[in-house]
Amino acid sequence: MSLRTTLPLHLIPDVSELGCYLPVVLPIAWIAVNHESANSYWQWLCSELTFQQLTCHLPFLCAFFFYFGTSLVFFTVDMTNSFQTFKIQTKKKPPTLESYWNCAKLVLFNFLAINLPISYLNYLWLDNAEAARMQVYAALPSAGVIVRDLAVSAVLFEFSFYWWHRLFHYPPLYKIVHKEHHKYTAPMGLAAIYAHPLDHLITNMVSMILGPIFMKMHVAVLCLWGTITVITTVCTHSGYALPGSANAASHDYHHYAFNSNFGVLGIFDWLHGTDKGSKEYEAAIRRRIGREKVAKVDKVSKDE
Ligand SMILES: [Zn+2]
Ligand SMILES: [Zn+2]
Repeated sequence: MSLRTTLPLHLIPDVSELGCYLPVVLPIAWIAVNHESANSYWQWLCSELTFQQLTCHLPFLCAFFFYFGTSLVFFTVDMTNSFQTFKIQTKKKPPTLESYWNCAKLVLFNFLAINLPISYLNYLWLDNAEAARMQVYAALPSAGVIVRDLAVSAVLFEFSFYWWHRLFHYPPLYKIVHKEHHKYTAPMGLAAIYAHPLDHLITNMVSMILGPIFMKMHVAVLCLWGTITVITTVCTHSGYALPGSANAASHDYHHYAFNSNFGVLGIFDWLHGTDKGSKEYEAAIRRRIGREKVAKVDKVSKDE
């Protein structure tokens, strides 16, 4: 296994993808500017909700609502054949209502059988330690601390997700655990956690909770972290390279080519050389989308 020595300049996001950072930047910027108001709102929530609602229901519902909300946006795009210029795998037929329904059943099961008990464990764990219990009611952390906690969580997520995902591509494990997630060679947003429950528990959830545990994350920041991770994963499975959306082409290539791009941010794929063909695939998609946009503009000006 060899490590790269060149700089990973290709990991710097394209200008068209920067909009995907708005769900992260906007709440943090708002907290930075209005820390007192944000803190008053959190204290109001603390006074209105029970400890179990704050530590179990709230993180679960944030992830649940934003997962299905973002999936609904891409479902509408699929069903109305909108934004076809930005479709990544143009030769694949759009998903049918039946495939959406089949996908929704396993996704819902994973949310209820895996995410909900983990949220409940979060409540039990915090409830049993006096210091941790008091921290829930503490003031909201500053914007700097939030950025630090999210950045560390993102790196830990990338490390854990990359290695578990790569391990589950080992043929005997792939057949039993990970094959389910690869049912869709051209993925759709809702299928982001369409996976064997064990795969969802280990690859997704263990990777997701490492940062909050390690950083002793404030529950309000945990809700933000959960929201960011579900929006990102739905966007990267959407099948569309929409401007302002997370880089979907990278993980789409994993579903298409199967043995490339095991991570999310691309750091460990670059380090271990498991990103072969990815740059070319993403560049080809950008060129094709650019050509189609120019052709559309030309058609409109000719019609006028
Ligand atoms: Zn995979
Ligand atoms: Zn996937």
